[in-house]
Amino acid sequence: MTRPASPGSHPDSSDHPSSLDHQSSPGAQKALTANIATVAGVGPRRSAALFARHITTLGDALAHVPYRYEDLRRRDDIAALQPGTTAVLEGVLQNVVDRPMAGRWSRRMVSGLLKQPSGKSIRVVWFNLRSGGLPSGEPLLLAGRVNSGPNKLPELVHPEIYRLRAASPPALRPIYSLPAEVSQRLFGEIVSHAFKQNRGERLGAIPLQLQKRNNLCDILDAFQYLHQPPVDASLERLQTGATEAHRALALDEMFTFQLALARERARLQARNGAVLNGPADLTNALRASLPFSLTPSQVRSINEISAELAGSSQMNRILIGDVGSGKTMIAFYAALRAVESGWQAAIMAPTELLAEQHFATFSRLCSPLGINAVLLTGKIRPAERGRLLRALRRGDIQVAFGTQALIQEGVAMSRLGIAIIDEQHRFGVFDRARLMALGSQANVLMMTATPIPRSLARTLFRSLHVSSLDEMPPGRIPVKTEVVDEAMLNSVDAKVRAELELGRRAYYVLPLIEGQDDPDSVAATAKRLRSTSLKGFAVGVLHGRMRPAEKDEVMRQFRDGAVQLLVSTTVVEVGIDVPEATIIVIVAAERYGMAQLHQLRGRVGRGGDSSQCWLVLSHQASAPARARLERLAQCKNGEEVARMDLLTRGPGDLFGTRQTGALPLRFAGFIHDLALIEQAGELAQEWLQHDPELASRESWGARQALARMLEFGFSMHGSPNLESHMIP
Ligand code: ADP
Ligand code: MG
Repeated sequence: MTRPASPGSHPDSSDHPSSLDHQSSPGAQKALTANIATVAGVGPRRSAALFARHITTLGDALAHVPYRYEDLRRRDDIAALQPGTTAVLEGVLQNVVDRPMAGRWSRRMVSGLLKQPSGKSIRVVWFNLRSGGLPSGEPLLLAGRVNSGPNKLPELVHPEIYRLRAASPPALRPIYSLPAEVSQRLFGEIVSHAFKQNRGERLGAIPLQLQKRNNLCDILDAFQYLHQPPVDASLERLQTGATEAHRALALDEMFTFQLALARERARLQARNGAVLNGPADLTNALRASLPFSLTPSQVRSINEISAELAGSSQMNRILIGDVGSGKTMIAFYAALRAVESGWQAAIMAPTELLAEQHFATFSRLCSPLGINAVLLTGKIRPAERGRLLRALRRGDIQVAFGTQALIQEGVAMSRLGIAIIDEQHRFGVFDRARLMALGSQANVLMMTATPIPRSLARTLFRSLHVSSLDEMPPGRIPVKTEVVDEAMLNSVDAKVRAELELGRRAYYVLPLIEGQDDPDSVAATAKRLRSTSLKGFAVGVLHGRMRPAEKDEVMRQFRDGAVQLLVSTTVVEVGIDVPEATIIVIVAAERYGMAQLHQLRGRVGRGGDSSQCWLVLSHQASAPARARLERLAQCKNGEEVARMDLLTRGPGDLFGTRQTGALPLRFAGFIHDLALIEQAGELAQEWLQHDPELASRESWGARQALARMLEFGFSMHGSPNLESHMIP
């Protein structure tokens, strides 16, 4: 079916115009860089659809690995078929009728009966089939979806056909995520074509020498395994991305990512930053005004930051500290270092609520010091915005707080000395570039509570210096977490009431905003609580669809105690700090990730009182979901949560791919252990020592992979669409 292509005689005029392509490794004919449009059956419409998914070359097609498999080794029983499932059936096709489809003379609807020796049979239909004979009277294997057909009898729709006399069918049929224009069969042919055309060309970034020395699986072999699994392959491991082949892909990609980080680090080290070494009058005044003394790790972090800011190269540092460890104070301190050194500071937060809270706290602490700070979010009116922007540009304003509005709308600060990003995992790695564009000399401090194992942090943030807050402020008592069934909600309400009666405050977090009848909605829950168990208490409502002024008002009332219970969506997830809150109820908790639940739980336990977190399971929650929450209840801190999360779900959250789509990693879901990330880091370092510029012929694959990752990373920047390019 595929057009014979001879890569040697046809120069690949349709190749990427990448300069790297000219330096191919010796001897390799480059069939895999051929455009997929050279495969017969792939017309302009189909190739455009594949290009849109970044599948341009035969090599790209190989990298587009199946996301699930159909096991053709099994045989189903016709009598037990359920509509909505898939079936693999053997039999002989009979009573085939073939009639034209209305309005499309060349297309036919074909139906028939698959009959088994036992006498059982099932109707089979193909819509929109090109007319042509179906093999009848010979043993066949059909694999396809079961629908409910005429008279509610099950029928097999559009199955794949394998002629058992002609050849033995494949053991496992790969299923790809594809655009509507491209059939599974056609994509399978593109893949086979790619394998056939290849004449010893290598794929992947890891150089051969490194691969051999470390006994790593070759990438082409890995692709072969995943596209054409051997008869004895484990379906379970294939489906969960846990084969050696998956590991090889993830390792190769992580290797590339590590090269990218190393390059970024080299670039950053070369930059000059604002030197912030003024007299410490403001920072001293701030410290003196605090109602508490700093924790030892806060002091250590402050010293690390001050020392680096005083130097002439640009600071790129990340501050890692669990929820509630006191990162905000470090941010304020660093901002004041800039101001007292004659520079400006910008502090960016992922939500308006959090930006507002930071601004309010800062104003309370620092207005007495005569500092001029502003808040810049999306909600500011144009005239006011214009005035603020001019003042910022002139340098009249010393500290700017804001959301993404701070970096996205052409804001300029004449003397930006430090840019601080709170909850940086919400932004993604490549946002750094934008923030730094705000002021070319700005030092950068990022802060995150992403629970992240220490060793991973070292690797993931290789291009950054790391400060960490390893202890909580004194007097904190770990949040007591319990999992309960929805049916127990009344007794949970009673616990909430008891806390409120002691003068404390509570959160109630729900997945939905509206729906009077849906118990999982903010509206219904607020109504229920107001009229029943919490009658007499002030219940406030908070969600993302409220007007900013309303949100402010409710938050302020909650902070001041005028509202005692806040019924809210996850808008309170990050950063919100109300120390009097001692109890949080999270409804339908199984819907959230571990890291997110840990963040939510961090809304309480911020004062000296003991706090509780109730994770309420919906009745439809599965047993594994319950087990996951039970494990979270046992984890005391972010590090423990991170380790478990990584083991149970893969590292998507850690890399920010789930939340922001900001990282160009498509095989990250195949990482099941930290060791892989560490190994990739070591391999990258080893190779860079050997070939720092990646200039050798052996580095060809690495160079190309790196170029693609950077290009992809930046072209995808800020786009929420990465998910569609990832293996589901
Ligand atoms: P996070 O690290 O989650 O951003 P915050 O900066 O919001 O944490 O701090 C949590 C709470 O702890 C705040 O109420 C803050 O005022 C308080 N806090 C910060 N540092 C200390 C300290 N050294 N001693 C006591 N309380 C502190
Ligand atoms: Mg915070």
